[in-house]
Amino acid sequence: MNRKVFLSLLAILIFYTAGALVSVRYLTDTTRELNRIIKMHEVEELRKSLVINVQAVQNDLYTVNTPLTSNIDFIVDNMIKLEKSAGVCTTCHHAPGMKERLIDIQNRIDEYGDALSYYLTGSANSERIIMLRKSAAEIGDRVLLLTSDMSHKASAKIDTITNSASRRLKEIRMIILITLVTTFSISVVIAFRLKGFIVRPVKELVNATRRITSGDYDVNVSCKDRTEFGELAKHFNTMSASIKEGYEKINREMAFRKQTEEALVKSERFLNSMFDSIHDPFCIIDSEYRLIRANEAYVATRRLTGTDFMGRHCYEALHGRNSVCGGCVVEKSFRSKDPCAKEKLLTVDGGTKIWLEIYTYPVFNKDGGVSHVIEYSRDISDRKHTEEARKAAEEQIIFNSLHDSLTGLPNRVLFFDHLRHAMDRGKRQEDYLFAVLFLDIDRFKVFNDSLGHSMGDVALTEISRRLKESVRSHDVIARFGGDEFVILLDNLKSREEAVPVTEHLQGNIARPFEISGREIFTSASVGIAFCARDCEKPEHYLRDADIAMYYAKGRGHGHYEIFNKKMYASALARVQLETDLRQAIKLNEFRLHYQPIISMETGAVCGFEALVRWQHPERGLISPAEFIGLAEETGLIIHIGEWVLNEACRQMRIWREKFAGRPPLTMSVNISSRQLFPNLVTLVGRVTEQYAPAPGSLVLEITESMLMENAVTVLPLLSKLKEMQVQIHIDDFGTGYSSLSYLHQLPIDALKIDRSFIRMTGKKDNHVIARAVATLAHGLNMEVVAEGVETEEQLALVKSLKCEYVQGFLISKPLEAGAAEALLREDRRVPA
Ligand code: C2E
Ligand code: MG
Ligand code: MG
Repeated sequence: MNRKVFLSLLAILIFYTAGALVSVRYLTDTTRELNRIIKMHEVEELRKSLVINVQAVQNDLYTVNTPLTSNIDFIVDNMIKLEKSAGVCTTCHHAPGMKERLIDIQNRIDEYGDALSYYLTGSANSERIIMLRKSAAEIGDRVLLLTSDMSHKASAKIDTITNSASRRLKEIRMIILITLVTTFSISVVIAFRLKGFIVRPVKELVNATRRITSGDYDVNVSCKDRTEFGELAKHFNTMSASIKEGYEKINREMAFRKQTEEALVKSERFLNSMFDSIHDPFCIIDSEYRLIRANEAYVATRRLTGTDFMGRHCYEALHGRNSVCGGCVVEKSFRSKDPCAKEKLLTVDGGTKIWLEIYTYPVFNKDGGVSHVIEYSRDISDRKHTEEARKAAEEQIIFNSLHDSLTGLPNRVLFFDHLRHAMDRGKRQEDYLFAVLFLDIDRFKVFNDSLGHSMGDVALTEISRRLKESVRSHDVIARFGGDEFVILLDNLKSREEAVPVTEHLQGNIARPFEISGREIFTSASVGIAFCARDCEKPEHYLRDADIAMYYAKGRGHGHYEIFNKKMYASALARVQLETDLRQAIKLNEFRLHYQPIISMETGAVCGFEALVRWQHPERGLISPAEFIGLAEETGLIIHIGEWVLNEACRQMRIWREKFAGRPPLTMSVNISSRQLFPNLVTLVGRVTEQYAPAPGSLVLEITESMLMENAVTVLPLLSKLKEMQVQIHIDDFGTGYSSLSYLHQLPIDALKIDRSFIRMTGKKDNHVIARAVATLAHGLNMEVVAEGVETEEQLALVKSLKCEYVQGFLISKPLEAGAAEALLREDRRVPA
């Protein structure tokens, strides 16, 4: 650029200098011309003066005689000057031709002077003077002529020179003008060029700068010359690009920042809304333990008041000044860098207590340190309550699983646990002694069924209370269901110590109960088993005590028995018997014997009682007394009873066909309490359908205890049986417990006086009960069957009691079917 400017200025200077030089040169020439003109004017002046003087002289010469002398001096003087002027003038009209003229004029002047001097100085006559004068005048005229000619020529020359000078001046003016115009033009061009070179890029740069200033960074200056501007433009473009890049980067960063900020704002808003939408307490705590964020639920549950809690130390905000944290999960999370949790019971406004489950989560910074801890709490009150309820329920379940629900006494499981402990101690401690008491409430079933189960429950509760009263605090009483209680007498000093305890509790049980305004009497049978080396399991003690209790029961009500080995052997025999019994059912080893029943009206056999026997392969014929009880206990009686009913009806059918002429024989079948269920109706229905016995010929014998024990179900059952033309007799009447009012409601056809009452006839007032039974039966419109009549005396009594039927060894023992058939054929009659 510098070069361009320099060259431009140099060009202007050169041009200008050239113009100036030309002008100067022209001016010099012109000046010289002008000087010549001036000189020529001076010559002209001199000439004019010469002319004037010459003319004056001439005038004088032609007119009067005047002092010519002074004029001639002038003329001469002028001539000298003229000559001098002419002498110095070499360039103008003093050209060699003119000089010659001047010399000529000078010579003429000299001649004129001489002529004049002659005239002046002539003293001759007047003629001569006139002649001189004339000569002088002629010379003078010539001088004038010459001068005039010279003047003309000089004028012409001056005009030429003047014209030349003025032309030159014009040329100079023109040159100057041209120079100026050209210089101006060049300057303009240069200016334009420079403008192009400087202003345009500058302007462009300025515009570009302005655009950049106004934010348009997409600017690229197009200047590509090799000047500084080009370089500047290049740098500017680079700078612009950098600015643009920088701006774009800034823009990007700003956009990113804006995005980030927006995201932050969004996130903040989201966080806020999230915070607000979280119904559970939520807060953020920084590493200085300052509460930096907390939602409303947190504020509410933590009962934070005012507005300045934010930013305060969380313990201080929560618990007041100078409080310290103990086992705080926030601190734990900060320390351990792990999520922590704990449950906390809080009292909220209104004094309500709520359970919170507090979770803390560490938030890590980039260095891996914990910068914040987020605390989130959940109201787990419901769950806690549920948990507590569940826990209580579980405890209850556990309690229930270990205790009897009615009495709250330990049950079998818990009792066994205690017993195991006692056994373990017994193994470790030589002199340690304990006893297991198995207690069964006598006749409880009757009592329970007659009074109702709820009353039975009341009675059981009262019994358990009395049992608790009767033993020592460290003894354990358990109820095993029903009316079975088991007691662990722990840490006895001696075996004998168990006896008074047993008697004491039996005495307590025997005390009358007051239930619903009724006085109830009961008793307890107790079996006692002491700790023994050969008892390895708790069950063994239970077994032994149970066996002993069984024996006690066998002795009647309210007794106790201490277990011994024989009892066990006997129990084993029972087990063996049970096994055999099962086998007998399978192998059909049962037989029926038929004991005739005599009608007291006719003295003839009117029917039979079917009595079961077991034809044991080894032991021979076994009496029902030996196995019926066990069959009832084991439930096998159901199968046996079904067989008996079927067989009896089958036999009855045979005899009916064989002895068609006789009035239909009755067949009495003993029914066990275990059979006294609705399916008995089904069974009877099936059998009667099969063998079609004569109406009323099938008799079912049930004991009064069975009636009482199944008081609820028995009435509809008996009613249905009655509808099927089946007679109902009460067996062994008088040996059990019966409610007479209840008996009255039942559809009973006859009472069988138990043989024990018939047997008493030999003793004093022995017939009282038999008589009472007969009277009662008759009073209730029932018939009376006297069983177990073995003697004539007893028969006489039966007669006197107006019993309708009699049965006993006196007439016949139970017979096999064939013998019974023979008896029928024989048709032997008892004298009425
Ligand atoms: P039960 O029903 O009272 O039967 C009468 C029992 O008295 C029979 O004994 C019979 O042989 C016996 N007996 C009859 N007359 C006399 C007598 O003059 N003197 C003596 N000492 N005894 C007499 P058995 O057959 O041993 O039956 C005993 C009990 O076994 C029956 O008493 C009855 O309760 C039960 N039983 C017998 N067979 C069956 C049966 O098929 N099913 C059920 N459930 N029980 C039966
Ligand atoms: Mg009977
Ligand atoms: Mg009987």
